[in-house]
Amino acid sequence: MSNSAITPILIEPKFVERIWGYVDLRPWVNREPDGRPIGEVWLNGDECVAAGGPYDEMSIAQIFRNYPREMLGDDGSGTQSPLLIKLIFAREKLSVQVHPDDAMAQKYGDPRGKTECWAVLEAQPGAQVAVGLKPGVTVADVERGIQEHTLEEMLNIVAVEKGEMIYVASGTVHAILPGSQLLEVQQNCDLTYRLYDYGRPRELHIEKGLEALRLTTDAGKVAPRELGDRTLLIDKKYFRIERIELSGSMTKTAFDGGIAGKLNYIYVASGAGRLVCGDAGIELKAQRMVLLPALVGEYSIESAEKIEIYRIVDMS
Ligand SMILES: [Zn+2]
Repeated sequence: MSNSAITPILIEPKFVERIWGYVDLRPWVNREPDGRPIGEVWLNGDECVAAGGPYDEMSIAQIFRNYPREMLGDDGSGTQSPLLIKLIFAREKLSVQVHPDDAMAQKYGDPRGKTECWAVLEAQPGAQVAVGLKPGVTVADVERGIQEHTLEEMLNIVAVEKGEMIYVASGTVHAILPGSQLLEVQQNCDLTYRLYDYGRPRELHIEKGLEALRLTTDAGKVAPRELGDRTLLIDKKYFRIERIELSGSMTKTAFDGGIAGKLNYIYVASGAGRLVCGDAGIELKAQRMVLLPALVGEYSIESAEKIEIYRIVDMS
C-alpha cells in the first residue's frame, strides 16, 4: 500500500454493559435504550469495526494484525492498538481497583500493563474520583481496609471539573465515582485487579492487587498548557492528549504540530466537521472516533462552524 492509499478510519463504537452504568445514556449519547445498563462506550476496542472506507467492517484487531506497519509506523512494534479509548458513564461507584505495570503484566504473560488517564468531558457539581492512597497508608492498612470495609476512607478523593485531566499511573489504587463523564485513554491491557466492590457480588483479586499496588505514584491532576492553536492536556510515556478547537481548516502538518509519523486517534467532543483525505471524506460528528494510521496520507480537517476534538497520540 502506498502512503496515499492509507486513509483515516472511522470507527463504530461498542456499547458495553456494566452494573454501575446507565440504562439511558441520553442526553450524552443519542442511543435508544434496550434495558441493559451501559457503563462504557469502547471507541476503538479490538472488536469495534471500521465504518465505511477501504477497511469497512474489518475489526480494529484485524486491521492492526494485517497492517501493523501502516498503523504503527516504521518504529512501531506489535500487532495491536497500544491504546484503548473509552467513554465512562458512572451512575454508581466503580470498584476500587489497581492495574499492573508493564513488568508485572509481562511476568504473567501479557504484553503490557495499564497506565491510564481521564479527561473530564462533563461534571456535575460535587463530582469526584479516587486517585491513590492517603499519605501514611500502608499495605497492611489496605488489607485490613478490604476485610473491614473501610478501604474507601483510605483513598485520596479528588473533586473534578469539566476540562480537567487526571493521570492514573499503573500501581495507583483508584476508583471512578459518580458525577462525571470521562474520556478514558489507557494502555490496551485487560488486567484489572479489583480490591473492593462495596459488597457487590463480583470477584475480587486481592493477592495480585496487593502485588500491583504502589503506596505512592505520580498520579493526580495534570495542569493544562496552552500551545497557541491547542491545549496540551497530558504528555506522558504512553500517550499525549491535546484539545483542539477549530473553525476553518487545518492541514496534516499543522495538526501534527511537530509530532508526526505516529498513530493518532481523533475524538470529536462537540461540533461537526469533515476530514478530507484525497477523494475520500469522513464526516466528523460528536462522540465519534477516527483512527489516523501512522503512515496515513495527506489530509485536512475542515469545520465550517466549530469543532472540538481531542487528539490522542500513541507515544509508546
Ligand atoms: Zn482503572
